[in-house]
Amino acid sequence: MGDKGWNDKKRFIWILSLLLLVAFVVTSGISYQVAHDSLTEQIKENNLPLTSDNIYSEIQQDLLKPIFISSLMAQDTFVRDWTINQEQNPEKLIRYLKEIQDKYGTVTSFFVSEATRNYYHSSGVLKRIKDIDPEDAWYFRVRSLPEYEQYEVNIDPDTADQNRTVIYVNYKVFDFEGNFIGVTGVGLAVESVKRLIELYQTRYNRSVYFTDRQGNITLHSQQYDGAATLQTSLGLEKLAIRILASPSTSFSYQKAGKTIFLNSRLVPEFKWHLIVEQDEARGEQKLLTTFWANIGLSLLVTIGVLIIANMTLGKYQRKLELMASTDKLTGAANRQAFEEHFANSLTRSVLDSRPMSLLLMDIDHFKLVNDSYGHNIGDLVIQTVSHMLKSQLKEDDLLCRWGGEEFLILLPNCSLSQSSELAERIRELVAGRLLRVNGCEINVTLSCGAAQHRASETAEDLINRVDIALYQAKEQGRNRVVLSY
Ligand code: GH3
Ligand code: MG
Ligand code: MG
Repeated sequence: MGDKGWNDKKRFIWILSLLLLVAFVVTSGISYQVAHDSLTEQIKENNLPLTSDNIYSEIQQDLLKPIFISSLMAQDTFVRDWTINQEQNPEKLIRYLKEIQDKYGTVTSFFVSEATRNYYHSSGVLKRIKDIDPEDAWYFRVRSLPEYEQYEVNIDPDTADQNRTVIYVNYKVFDFEGNFIGVTGVGLAVESVKRLIELYQTRYNRSVYFTDRQGNITLHSQQYDGAATLQTSLGLEKLAIRILASPSTSFSYQKAGKTIFLNSRLVPEFKWHLIVEQDEARGEQKLLTTFWANIGLSLLVTIGVLIIANMTLGKYQRKLELMASTDKLTGAANRQAFEEHFANSLTRSVLDSRPMSLLLMDIDHFKLVNDSYGHNIGDLVIQTVSHMLKSQLKEDDLLCRWGGEEFLILLPNCSLSQSSELAERIRELVAGRLLRVNGCEINVTLSCGAAQHRASETAEDLINRVDIALYQAKEQGRNRVVLSY
């Protein structure tokens, strides 16, 4: 194989691999990016807002009811009349509160009078509210709410049972002239809301929590491990204002190297923000696995294509080489191949110190064949004779079409006498056979010169000697073998 051919092939295979790999990597990369973007879009635009809507509509039923009940209590003429009339017979109000609690299934119901600061509860008068007691701060907060705000919602331990967390609705009560006379309302156990949050947490791996308008995190799941306020939440320090300032927002942020998607919406009845978060890890992992599987598959395909390309190229190259080194008509070696082969055989015979011989054969009076039967039939005769010669040779011997109807036969590992025997056998074979070519019966004979290679003799010199021997054979009447000693 020529160096140039080998290099061309190598370069071709390199370029092919590079093209395939680049194409595969770019395609995989683009599909990954597209899938990634659509996943992001899906989470941001669909999953989180939907979760938020679901939670909102479910908690609405749970949370709006106490607001409604509290509003009824605050408007109740009995409550207002009783308060205006100096809070006579507390058991009447207490029975009223108990009725409310039983009827609506709330965990607590209460009334605090502005005049006496008594805390009336369904179970009795619990205590007297004091403005120096931090536990009672809620009352004074509600009392000083601006006029347009009728109530507030807040989360506190149950006044009657400190182990229970309760969502309180604190509603302002006014007398018939519009003077503030106290605060009433009910409390709702947060357990049902918490259960809802847990469900979303475990089923969808989403984090759900509420913050009030100041950014305090008011409700969250058991697993929640974030900060107590939005402003101190990891990654949200600068974004808290964005959540708190808008009725709804959707964005992603970085938290400990992970991308977190966040959706928030204001629940106006509570003035709380419902926040739903999800990290992209789960879907992302799938995408990455697919990406690497694609790359792996691409590598396999590339390797497969390269092996096939290599084999195909090799086959064509061998075919080309064979075509370049053989004679088309007879399939025998051409002159160029002979020279290469001769050099190799010579080296080997010198190394092994074995004799090497050469025959030169020429068809006798071939012009006559051409003249009588035409050039095409002449060609077929040359072909037939070539096949007959080939059939008498051993595997290591080389048959070469030296000229029009002249054949050189290189016989490695063969002495002069052996080569003369072979030449004689071939001569007899050809002379004794009537060749059937295209319906014509033609008889030809061969003349042959034979010589054994002498030490340090060049190919040219050796060929010269067989040529002279052949000439002598022709001179001596043809159809014979002449040896050159
Ligand atoms: P001689 O016995 O002296 O060899 O007589 P010859 O007629 O064979 O003479 P020579 O070998 O010198 O000439 C060979 C002739 O063979 C010359 C040419 O017309 C013919 N010839 C050479 N090559 C081809 C070929 O490829 N096909 C055919 N059909 N004829 C060829
Ligand atoms: Mg001839
Ligand atoms: Mg000739």
